[in-house]
Amino acid sequence: MQRREASYKQPRIFTISNEISPASRNRRGRAAIRAACYSRVRMNASGTDFEFMKAALEEARVAGEGQEVPIGAVVVVEGAIVARAGNRTITDCDPTGHAEIVALREAARKIGNHRLTGATLYVTIEPCAMCAGAMIQARIARLVYGADDPRAGAVRSCFSVLDHESLNHRVEVTAGVLADESLESLRAFFAARR
Ligand SMILES: [Zn+2]
Repeated sequence: MQRREASYKQPRIFTISNEISPASRNRRGRAAIRAACYSRVRMNASGTDFEFMKAALEEARVAGEGQEVPIGAVVVVEGAIVARAGNRTITDCDPTGHAEIVALREAARKIGNHRLTGATLYVTIEPCAMCAGAMIQARIARLVYGADDPRAGAVRSCFSVLDHESLNHRVEVTAGVLADESLESLRAFFAARR
C-alpha cells in the first residue's frame, strides 16, 4: 500500500490533441507523433475544468468514506454534469466498478444512448486500461484527469491506449487538473490504513 501511494505523482497540465495521421501507420511515424504529443504541453485547462474536477474530487471523498479507494469521476455534456460516481468495486463486489465505468454507465442510461459523443469525462486519477477502453467504446470527446498513475495509467504512464494507431476514435486529453488535491485524498486514505 505504501509503495502504491508513494508512486503516484503530479503531472504538469498538458493536452494531447492526437489527430489521426498517415505517419501513425509506421513505427518511426508513431515515435515522432508521441514526441510531438509530449512537446505540445499546454496550460489549457479552463475554469470550468477546475469546477468539474472539484465535483469529481467530492465523489472521491465520498468513496473514501465508504472504504473504497478515493477516486471520483463526473461526465459532462453541454456544460452540465449528467453523471457522477466514485469507486464501487468493494461496495458492489465488482472488479469493473471503477468510478469512470460507473459514471459512463449512468450517463449513457440518462441520455438514452450508449454513445456519449461530445461528452467530457473528469476523473481524479489517470484511467486504467479498462476505463480507457470504455471511453473509446463510449466515443467520449475529451478526458480531463488529475494525477498520473505510474502503476496502471493507460493514457501515458503504462500504456497509451487512447492514441493507439489502430483506433479510429480520438480523445482529447488534459491532465494535471487539481492533481495535488487528487493525490492528497489518496495519501490520506492510504495513510489511515497504515
Ligand atoms: Zn479504471
